[in-house]
Amino acid sequence: DIKLSSRVQRIKPSPTLAVSALAAQLKAQGRDVIGLGAGEPDFNTPDAIKEAGITAIREGKTKYTAVDGTPGLKQAIIEKFKRDNGHHFEPDQILVSCGGKQSFFNLCQALLDAGDEVIIPAPYWVSYPDMVLLADGNPVIVPTGKDQGFKMTPAQLEGAITPRTRLVVLNSPSNPTGVAYSREELAALGQVLLRHPHVLVATDDMYEHMMFRGAPFCNILMACPDLEDRTIVLNGVSKAYAMTGWRIGYAGGPKPLIAAMKKIQSQSTSNPTSVSQEAAEAALNGDQSCVGEMCRAFQERHDYLMEALNAIPGVECLPSDGTFYSFPSVQGAMDKLGIDSDVKFAEHLLDQVGVALVPGSAFGADGYVRISFATSMDNLKQAVERIGRAVTG
Ligand code: PLP
Repeated sequence: DIKLSSRVQRIKPSPTLAVSALAAQLKAQGRDVIGLGAGEPDFNTPDAIKEAGITAIREGKTKYTAVDGTPGLKQAIIEKFKRDNGHHFEPDQILVSCGGKQSFFNLCQALLDAGDEVIIPAPYWVSYPDMVLLADGNPVIVPTGKDQGFKMTPAQLEGAITPRTRLVVLNSPSNPTGVAYSREELAALGQVLLRHPHVLVATDDMYEHMMFRGAPFCNILMACPDLEDRTIVLNGVSKAYAMTGWRIGYAGGPKPLIAAMKKIQSQSTSNPTSVSQEAAEAALNGDQSCVGEMCRAFQERHDYLMEALNAIPGVECLPSDGTFYSFPSVQGAMDKLGIDSDVKFAEHLLDQVGVALVPGSAFGADGYVRISFATSMDNLKQAVERIGRAVTG
């Protein structure tokens, strides 16, 4: 037997990727399965961005780049932060990585010692706690249910902070709930953090451009600029430009922290793919209308889904402020069916009616499911009809 590290035994494979893989496998076996597990836009990468990648290959931009990203892409990121968020970063405050996932991974590796605490409001993106564990840190989960709009209150944040707290993670609009904090709510959380200067904050803005109803995007640094010397802003091109496979994420933050993250990256992956960096630069500098078009499609599906889901007995869903997810409570439906866990509920749906979605417990919230509406309206309508059938029997 090969003895594996205690580190790897502390974590589990990404449950969202596992659901997508299972749905694909069942489909390949000829089963009629509708997948609502996807964490990626169902659109193609826009042509102009693809062309930039193709041109990069033709021009021989196929070699190592600087570990922290090409000067051109870093400049495009600096401009983007200025344009969209009013943040002012120098080039040595920017690190480009292989997806938003690696940005957060680098952050944990650079920041945490054994036993250091990271405050993570639940429902959370599945990877935060496991990446903290991989860095020997302790995830401190703050539960927030539907009744409080899936948002951490200032009192909850205050109560979770200890002398061992190193970092608080905010993700707004949120995967999986779709909920976004308002500027006022962020400012109130910022007031708490100002009282605890040893705590850093990471704002994961991956879904910044997927906001509905024209509501303006805001992150905690925009709401509370006094946190500048201890905020790290995480973002990427994966969701905004349907570029999940290109693997480009980026971070802007305090120089010493970015330098430390860069050192970790220099001894793991080195630079992200040169060709993808050229494409990401074109995405950030180019015409942004593709972003709004995708967002409008998501909003239309969201509005349909809200009504249809809430019409199913035992299913209750808050409207999302953005993203392409909704996070209904299915507790009533579970009770009715005599099912005692959301994992079993998800299995029941897959088994009985061929609908694949991710149980809420994967995100730290039992009794819910995450529905991704990054799929066609036809698929959504069929899926809702099937869920209704599975619940009402
Ligand atoms: N952050 C959040 C909240 C996400 O949902 C995701 C992807 O699912 C990521 C970060 C990472 O994105 P990627 O590594 O694909 O760029």
